[in-house]
Amino acid sequence: MRLEGRVAFISGGARGMGAAEARMFAREGAMVTIGDVLEEEGRRVAAEIGEAGGQAIFVSLDVTSEAQWNDAITATVERFGGLHVLVNNAGIGGGGNVEQTTEAEWDRTMDINAKGVFLGTKAAIPAMRQSGGGSIINISSQLGIVGVDNSSPQYQASKGAVRLLTKATAIQYAGEGIRANSVHPGPIITPMTEAGRADQERHDLTISRIPLGRYGEPDDVAYGVLFLASDESSFMTGSELVIDGGWVAQ
Ligand code: NAD
Repeated sequence: MRLEGRVAFISGGARGMGAAEARMFAREGAMVTIGDVLEEEGRRVAAEIGEAGGQAIFVSLDVTSEAQWNDAITATVERFGGLHVLVNNAGIGGGGNVEQTTEAEWDRTMDINAKGVFLGTKAAIPAMRQSGGGSIINISSQLGIVGVDNSSPQYQASKGAVRLLTKATAIQYAGEGIRANSVHPGPIITPMTEAGRADQERHDLTISRIPLGRYGEPDDVAYGVLFLASDESSFMTGSELVIDGGWVAQ
């Protein structure tokens, strides 16, 4: 198994890609903590992992709170004895151009998508150091690399911030065996893209921008995250794994 004996924390693991990663990690032998604001869904995913023979717990976490991050990491270390992998996956989407965007909308997205990754990284590093090293995987987006007309300024700015925060983290902690890489999914079939997929015009526009001609599945991304979490990627840090059906290749 590719994550045998590893302890992994996944923010936003109650549904969507985070839940797919939690399930896949557990199947590969990891002990998994799911941190999310969606308590019922998160507990259900943890219970399903347990029923399938894996090990997982749920902790209530709003990624914008430093105190909650510290509690969540402490609970993980107390339950599983260390921390080797952090997936900063929690995030919110959005649309609208610069003039339509309010300051409050900007702040909320930056708080969750960018500050949340910083706070998670900050909380996890001491526990990873204690555990002898680790792998941090930050979920950015293809929109952290290129711009598009129908996302929002704050979504794209937050995902760009995640991309460079990853590189800063990689350089600052490489000497301690703590790696950090970003993942850049394209459009994926999750609750986040549900409204866009249900609107025929938006759906068709999105598909026209994906050379492979389809939305990705959560597992398409989870396989990449698993690779970065495992020792198979032990010579990778500060890099960008693009899983977008070819979107940014054009
Ligand atoms: P999703 O909406 O299905 O899941 C996101 C999860 O994050 C949810 O469980 C949600 O409750 C949680 N979350 C939101 N705010 C939180 C907070 N303040 N504290 C803790 N948890 C919180 O979305 P998804 O599509 O699975 O997205 C996962 C990640 O992938 C996000 O960072 C998203 O921006 C990114 N992404 C998604 C796509 C896509 O097409 N779906 C593409 C590129 C990047």
